[in-house]
Amino acid sequence: MKPAQPPESPASPGRALSAVLPAWQRPLAVVAHPDDETFGLGALISQMAAAGARVHILCYTHGEASTLNENHTDLLRQREHELRQASRALGAAGITLLGYRDGRLAAQPPGDLAHRIAALAARQHADGLLAFDDTGVTGHPDHRAATAAAVLAGTALALPLLAWALPANVAHRLRAQTGQPFTGQPPGQLDFRIPVDRACQRRAAWLHASQISPTAVLWRRLELQGDTEHLRWLLPPAGRRLRPGLTQPRRGLPTPPIYPDGYAETRGGAAHEDG
Ligand SMILES: [Zn+2]
Repeated sequence: MKPAQPPESPASPGRALSAVLPAWQRPLAVVAHPDDETFGLGALISQMAAAGARVHILCYTHGEASTLNENHTDLLRQREHELRQASRALGAAGITLLGYRDGRLAAQPPGDLAHRIAALAARQHADGLLAFDDTGVTGHPDHRAATAAAVLAGTALALPLLAWALPANVAHRLRAQTGQPFTGQPPGQLDFRIPVDRACQRRAAWLHASQISPTAVLWRRLELQGDTEHLRWLLPPAGRRLRPGLTQPRRGLPTPPIYPDGYAETRGGAAHEDG
């Protein structure tokens, strides 16, 4: 059944969306795959970096299971290279690329994934987390697993977590036009409407040479999004009035939820750090 067309405007009457990003100095962006930092978070990361923030990117996988391989290459190595190039182009201060298996994040213990964020956030003195919306936005289960881990880690460290989201009307059109399972948020679930300059994101997108082409869905999405990005709090900063359905992160949660059975080193490869 075809879903009803959501309203055009992402802003509900009487609800003011903030047009200014939090003034974080050391945000940690958490993503599942190389290209998520650019295709999804690129305009936000480049804007934060341009404003002087030291943005660090944690990426769980090398994206080796992608069905796209535009330049017919060894994806595992190529996509690491692409991530490094694109992150630099966005102005990110550094990346941490982990070796989890692409497509299998949801099978990992959530506490294991969360521990990687919590340890890195502590080391980087992160003052906020940035991730995909908890729907995964594109329908990829790895995206949902990465964000679920960010929620756990942010809760344990009492760090605010801001999620990149699509307005429901944009997701609706993308689903209709591409057949891909994009998920958006209704007006009442969005907290930010940020004007952005996409020049840097577009340049960085072409650096993901194995994943991009002139006919990629990304270009259609960016066209529909226009020069604005929408975000929502998954974990709001302390003291902020909560949207219905949100809970305030609590500092000092006991560690067991994060370290369920004693943390062991990452399966599937060591971390490569840069910056
Ligand atoms: Zn992805």
